[in-house]
Amino acid sequence: MRDVSLWGSLLGVEKTVIERIEYDEDADLIVAHVRPTSRQRSRCGACGRRCPGYDLGAGRRTWRALDLGTVRAVLEAHAPRVMCREHGVVVAAVPWARHDAGHTYAFDETVAWLATQSSKSTVTVLMRIAWRTVGSIITRVWVDVDAQHDRLAGLRRIGIDEISYKRGFKFLMVVVDHDTRRLVWAAPGRTNATVRQFFDLLGADRCAQITHVSADGADFIDTIVAQACPNAVRVADPFHVVKWATEALDEVRRGAWNDARALARTEPKRGRGRPRADAPPRPGSERAVALKGARYSLWKNPENLSENQQIKLAWIAATDPRLHRAYLLKEGLRVIFAMPYHDAVQALEKWIGWARRCRVPAFVKLQKSIVRHRGQDPRRDQTQPVQRLDRIDQHQDPADHPDSVRIQVTPSPHRPRPTQPRRPPTNPPRAQMTHGYVRRAASPPRIQGSLT
Ligand SMILES: [Zn+2]
Repeated sequence: MRDVSLWGSLLGVEKTVIERIEYDEDADLIVAHVRPTSRQRSRCGACGRRCPGYDLGAGRRTWRALDLGTVRAVLEAHAPRVMCREHGVVVAAVPWARHDAGHTYAFDETVAWLATQSSKSTVTVLMRIAWRTVGSIITRVWVDVDAQHDRLAGLRRIGIDEISYKRGFKFLMVVVDHDTRRLVWAAPGRTNATVRQFFDLLGADRCAQITHVSADGADFIDTIVAQACPNAVRVADPFHVVKWATEALDEVRRGAWNDARALARTEPKRGRGRPRADAPPRPGSERAVALKGARYSLWKNPENLSENQQIKLAWIAATDPRLHRAYLLKEGLRVIFAMPYHDAVQALEKWIGWARRCRVPAFVKLQKSIVRHRGQDPRRDQTQPVQRLDRIDQHQDPADHPDSVRIQVTPSPHRPRPTQPRRPPTNPPRAQMTHGYVRRAASPPRIQGSLT
């Protein structure tokens, strides 16, 4: 292989004449003196059109190339200016680097790829550049990539969400494609205008092709989606639904913790040091401490629990059935999203029924919110209410059946009251039960695609 073509390959340049190579031992730097081939000369840097020359510009300049082993390498060439019909006086294009860039194509592409694959410090240390430079390289590589593809083409099922940065002070609105599992759009801000910006960019035709939109349940996103994509099914995404459940569970845990602390305040204080053998027990204060530490046992997925956390969970199951019930509700909801679609639909129906009767206010509220978000299918208005076949024999008029007859709770030694509280017959059914049954009877049971 001739030296010139070897050097061309090493430096990753094409359509370039390599005039000579210098090695600066003191600076540990290889300088390749180059020029564009005659066909590439005198072209506008902005549009690539051939133009008459204007002047020699600011003389010779350098472009950073990929390191050769441990030695840094630069290309050095004249940077003359040309007179473009459209762009006026501009620096002439070079075949080894983007217009206005201080790095070669090969360098830019390597940095952009590394930025997607490794940490910030890896990129900056390995490539010996500043993080700001990485930002400008990504920007110009992305402009080229973006020009080749239409990221918004063929979108069917999308997700809209926001992420925060700068310690929660700034926000980015992001849109993902659920089918390709890729980010398709992002913009700073989390207002109506930000979301609208995306749908404006998408245009009416492509909006009409969208079938499903998942979001975090925020009303403002919902409103805009309903306007922009009137045919799309709007759903709450599983991540947020499970997050709501975790928050509801934490509310129950805090309630139990506060009860324990209230009890602890009535207990006699203890001085310093080891308590005497005959010291009175302080169950409230012990319970408060244990519940405070139970947070992660309740939050984590059961398969990830440590041995101590499993013990803590078993302790909660034995001593606080209500908190444990809240935990089971949270776990039940989480598991639904891992199920096959048709099983999940039925499981969610059952879960909603369970949560409605669970007598834990945080979960009754959560259930209502899930029912509300489940129902936002625009086609629903055109669909006749359908009674599910498997429920026909179960259909009961709520007015005839107060909720107390429906609750099936296994008798528990920790339950001080009878499991089926007796009430005078004039007692009306509890509000949320009536509400729930009426709602379910009037709307077809349905949960939407983000479960699949
Ligand atoms: Zn031009």
